[in-house]
Amino acid sequence: MDIFDSHTHINDLAFANDLPDVIERAQAFSVTSMLVLAGDHASLRRLQALFALTPQIYGAAGCHPEDAKRYDDIEEQRLKQALQASRMKALGEIGLDYHCQVSHLVQQQVFRRQLVLARQLHLPVSIHNRDAFADTYQLLKAAQIAEFGGVMHSFNGDEKWAQKFLDLGMYLSFSGVVTFKNAAVVRKAFLATPLERVLVETDAPYLAPEPYRGRQNEPGFTRLTLEYLANLRQISARELAAITYQNTIKFLRIKS
Ligand SMILES: [Zn+2]
Repeated sequence: MDIFDSHTHINDLAFANDLPDVIERAQAFSVTSMLVLAGDHASLRRLQALFALTPQIYGAAGCHPEDAKRYDDIEEQRLKQALQASRMKALGEIGLDYHCQVSHLVQQQVFRRQLVLARQLHLPVSIHNRDAFADTYQLLKAAQIAEFGGVMHSFNGDEKWAQKFLDLGMYLSFSGVVTFKNAAVVRKAFLATPLERVLVETDAPYLAPEPYRGRQNEPGFTRLTLEYLANLRQISARELAAITYQNTIKFLRIKS
């Protein structure tokens, strides 16, 4: 069995001291591939260093909405440059976060600019959305996202929103959130999502699935979320692993 963690931050300083162990534990859980997302220069450098450790680590970079104020022409050039590397497979995470203090207008401008960049570079995007479903949807729709591809990372909406993003041609990625007691709405959304549009992720070091909720998450725990989802769907974990692995490879345009 091969599991693809489609969204993780093992380049976070939380992992600085035991990275080889974290990767080894992931492999022991059959989490053999991962997409690692970088949001700033330091985390990008740590991501680039990871490429030497194992061949099945892929990268993404982008300006997170929380950092939108930092985005300017120079940042954009740097981002463009970083995304030229062959192991860099996506632009992200980008999007809108109305929970944070950054002005909505600034966030929207930066989000729009990066969607244009993704189209230019023909790279899929990993979308962060917090408390901003309607505006995120409008911007993705206007960008004609299906032409370059996108995933709603750690999808936490209801069935109605799931359907709207699916109608845009997007993937939905499910994290440990779907295992939380209070996430019945997300479970319903998952059950309504065609399997060929489902990805799985950890978002480590955040969002550890049950029974580890609140602890530091790590890529190996993708296995727990995957087993939980397979059980909901009443298929085997092996089957769901194979489907989501193929979906992720297709989404990231990785040649198998
Ligand atoms: Zn993330």
